Amino acid sequence: MGTRCENCDRDDDDLVSVHRLYVVPEDWDTAGSVTKVDQAERWCFSCRSLYPHELAGRG
Ligand SMILES: [Zn+2]
Repeated sequence: MGTRCENCDRDDDDLVSVHRLYVVPEDWDTAGSVTKVDQAERWCFSCRSLYPHELAGRG
């Protein structure tokens, strides 16, 4: 009941609301950029350590 990570769909008790960040690395012909997804998702610890994100629920 609501204990599934919305990124990897794994059962986990340690879920935190985050906004996913799409990070584009800087390259020789493009400036780097970071795009934040408005919709918050609940992620497990593993996803939070693997993928760029910003904590949700404040500001
Ligand atoms: Zn996950």
